[in-house]
Amino acid sequence: MNLVKIDRAHRVHIETFGCQMNEYDTELVRSLLKARGFTFTEDRERADVILMNTCAVRENAHTKVYSHLSDLRAIKRQRHLVVGVLGCMAQNLKEELMETEPLVDVLAGPDSYRRLPDLLMQAIEAQEQGSKPRGLAVDLSEYETYDDILPERTDGINAWLAVMRGCDNFCSFCVVPYTRGRERSRDPQGVIRETEHLVAQGHKQVTLLGQNVNSYLFGNWDFAHLITAVADVPGIERVRFTSPHPKDFPPALLDAVAGHPKICKHIHLPLQSGNDRVLDLMGRSYTRKEYLALVDDIRRRNPGIALTTDIICGFCSETDEEFLDTCRLVQDVGFHAAFVFKYSERARTIAARKYPDDVPEAVKTDRVARIVDMQTKIALRKNQELIGRTVTALVEGDSKRSSEQWMGKADNSLTVVWEKSGSRARPGDLIPISVSRASVTTLFGQEVPARQSR
Ligand code: SAM
Ligand code: SF4
Repeated sequence: MNLVKIDRAHRVHIETFGCQMNEYDTELVRSLLKARGFTFTEDRERADVILMNTCAVRENAHTKVYSHLSDLRAIKRQRHLVVGVLGCMAQNLKEELMETEPLVDVLAGPDSYRRLPDLLMQAIEAQEQGSKPRGLAVDLSEYETYDDILPERTDGINAWLAVMRGCDNFCSFCVVPYTRGRERSRDPQGVIRETEHLVAQGHKQVTLLGQNVNSYLFGNWDFAHLITAVADVPGIERVRFTSPHPKDFPPALLDAVAGHPKICKHIHLPLQSGNDRVLDLMGRSYTRKEYLALVDDIRRRNPGIALTTDIICGFCSETDEEFLDTCRLVQDVGFHAAFVFKYSERARTIAARKYPDDVPEAVKTDRVARIVDMQTKIALRKNQELIGRTVTALVEGDSKRSSEQWMGKADNSLTVVWEKSGSRARPGDLIPISVSRASVTTLFGQEVPARQSR
C-alpha cells in the first residue's frame, strides 16, 4: 500500500464517552495537544488522529467504544490514521486492547495525558515510515492533578473544573478506583485562579467535579471552604458541584449551599439502594436511615432544594423485597430526577471477585423500568408545583426544539424554555421566568418584564 505523507499540522478528532470528568479530561488533552502544534477537527473523515476518551463504568460504555473502533477499520485501510484510546477503558483493559485490537496505536490512561503528544508523534512518524510501533502510557499516579494545565474549553456558559482526581472509596460495584487511582486534591489557589480565568473568558457558571467532593482536603482547606472561595470570585454567577458521597456530608457544606447566593440549590446525592443489606454489600458505609436523616437535614437547612440521585437495580443477590425498599425510599424522598442503572459487573471490582452477578437480566430490566416509571410521575408532580412561580434561568442558548425559543437552567438545575419574541435575554444572562407549564424534565413559561422583576 502506498500512502501519502502528511506535511502540515496534524488534525485530531476527539470523541468523548461517559461522565463530566471525561469531558473535562478531553479539554485537558486538547490543551496539551494544542501546545504541541496539533489542530482539531469535528470531522473524523479529515482527521489524522482519532482519539476516544472512554468510560469503563458500565458494560454498555465498553460496547459503544468497540463499535466505534470497528467503524474506523475502513478509514484506516485507505489512509494513514493514528487511533488512540484514552481514559478509564484504556487504563482498565490495557492488555486486552493491545492484544485483541490491532487498530489501536496508542493507549493513555487518565494519569498519563502529559505523555500523549509524544506517543502520538511517534505513532505518526512510524506510520509514515511504514512501521507500526504501539504507544502505551497507563501508569497511575498518587500526585498528578494537572494543576498547571489550563483546559482548552469550547465556548459555553458552564465550565467543568476538576478539584480532585481518583477515589479511595472502593464501593464494591465500582471500577473507578482501579481506573482513576488514589484520591488527590488540587491546590485551592490553582482552582481559584482557574475560576478567575473562566470568568475572563466569559463563562458564568462553574461546576466543581470530583468522585467524592466532600472528601476534598488540601492543607486546612476542605470542600466547604473551597466552594465558598470559588463562589466569591467576582463575575461568577453560579457554582455547582458533583458528586458528594452521602457517608460524610459535612454540615459546613450544607450551610455554604444554604447561605451563599451563588451556590446552586441542588444536590446530587447518589443513593444506589434503599436496602441496608444491599448497601452493606455495596460498601457504601451508610444505612437507609442515615441517608433519610441526611435528606431531612438538607431540607431543614435548605427548604425547596432540588435533590437528584443515582440508583443501581439488580445488584448481586438483591431480592424483590429489597428492591421494594429502594422504591419506597424513592417515593418518600421525592427526588427531582434519578439516573437509574442496571448493575453491570466490572472486572477486578470487589463485587466481581466476591459476589455472583445472579439477578437475571430480565429482572434487572424490569426493576429499572419500575423505578423510572415511578420517578417520572414524581418529577412531573414536583415540576408542576412550580407553575405560577417565578424561577431565574441562566440563558444557555437556543432550545433543542426551536431557534425561536431560549433555553436556560434554573438554579435547581431544571431546564427552562421560553419564547424569544420580545425577549431581552442573551446567553449568559439571568432572566426571571414565570412558569406556566411543566413536563417531566422542562419548565415552560414567559419572561417577566424588566420593570416587574426589579
Ligand atoms: N462517585 C459517585 C458516587 O459515589 O456515587 C459516582 C460515580 S459513578 C462513575 C456514577 C454512577 O454510576 C454511580 O453513582 C452508580 O450509580 C453508577 N455505577 C457505577 N458502577 C456501576 C456498575 N458496576 N453498574 C451499574 N452502575 C454503576
Ligand atoms: Fe465509585 Fe464509590 Fe468512588 Fe463513587 S465513591 S467513584 S461509586 S468507588
